[in-house]
Amino acid sequence: MFELKQDWELEPRLRHFVLEDYTRAVPRWCPGCGDHAVLAAFLRLARDEQLVPEKTVVVSGIGCSGRFPHYVKTYGFHGLHGRPLPVACGIRSRRPDLNLFVITGDGDSCAIGTGHWIHAIRYNMKMTVLLLDNHIYSMTKMQSSPTTPEDHASNTHPRGNPLPPLNPLTVTLGVQNASFVAQTIDWNPPHLYATLRAAHHHPGLAFVRVLQRCPHYMPEMYQSLQQDSSRMLLLTHADGIQIEESAARLFKNKEEHEPSDLTAARRQAEREDVVPVGLLYHTESVKRYDLYSARGLGMSAAAKAEEVQSELNGFLI
Ligand code: SF4
Repeated sequence: MFELKQDWELEPRLRHFVLEDYTRAVPRWCPGCGDHAVLAAFLRLARDEQLVPEKTVVVSGIGCSGRFPHYVKTYGFHGLHGRPLPVACGIRSRRPDLNLFVITGDGDSCAIGTGHWIHAIRYNMKMTVLLLDNHIYSMTKMQSSPTTPEDHASNTHPRGNPLPPLNPLTVTLGVQNASFVAQTIDWNPPHLYATLRAAHHHPGLAFVRVLQRCPHYMPEMYQSLQQDSSRMLLLTHADGIQIEESAARLFKNKEEHEPSDLTAARRQAEREDVVPVGLLYHTESVKRYDLYSARGLGMSAAAKAEEVQSELNGFLI
C-alpha cells in the first residue's frame, strides 16, 4: 500500500525574514520591463506576510514571465508551455499548507494553456494567479498573442493582426465558479502590491491580470495610459482594493463598483472607453475543489485501507 509522505507536517524553524531571504539571482529581464515591478511586489508581499520560503511555491509556464521562479528563493517549478495551472492544481491537491503562486503570460495562458486556465478557474483551488499580459509573444521575439490588439503589426502579422483580441477578464468572468478577478498595472506599485496582497488572502483562486509593459517589443502599448491617466478607471469600494490617497490621486477617474455583483463586473470588464483597474469580482461563497480533494489527507495507510474496505463492503452480495 502506497502512502503519502507526511514529513511536510514538520514545521520549519521559526525565524524573521527580510527581503534578502527571498531574493536569488539578478533578473535578466530587459531594463524597464514590467516583470521587475511584479517581482518587487511579490518580494515585498513575501517579506510583509513573513511567508516561510520552505512553505512557498512559485509555478510558471513559458515566456519572459516564466523566469520568475528563478529569481525568488522559494520552491519553484518552471513548467511546460501553458501548463503552470495543472501543476499548481496538483500541488494544491496534496499540499493545503503551502503558499501557492502562479505566474503566467498572455501567450502561455490564453493560447496553449486556455483549457487549463478555464478549468482552473472553475476548480477554484486556493492560489494566486498572476497573468502578466504584455500583449505579445516576447520571448520568441514578437509574434501576435491572443491579446495583441487588432491591426497591430507583429512578426506573424506584418500588415497588422487581423483579429480582435481576446479579453482575459471577460473570459474569466464567464467561467462558472470564478471567485476573484482583478486588474492592476505594473507602473503603479501601491496598487499592484495591494492587489497582490488581496489576492493572496483570498480563500480560492485569485485571478489577477497585470497590464505589463514590454518596452522591447511593445514600447507604445501602455504609453498613452501612462501619459493620460484619464483613460483608466479606478474601481473603488470598501470591499475592493485599498490604496492610499496619494496613490489613488494618480487616477483621474474613479467609480464605486460593488465587487460582489457579477453582472456589474462583466460590464466593467467589457468597457472599451476606459481601462478598469481594481477588484472586479469577489465572492467566497462558491465551491473549492481543493477542499474536496484534500479529504483523506493525513490518514494513515491502515486507516485508508479500512475506509476502502468499508466502502467495498457495501457491494457484498
Ligand atoms: Fe520584458 Fe519584453 Fe524584455 Fe521580455 S522582451 S524581458 S517582456 S521587456
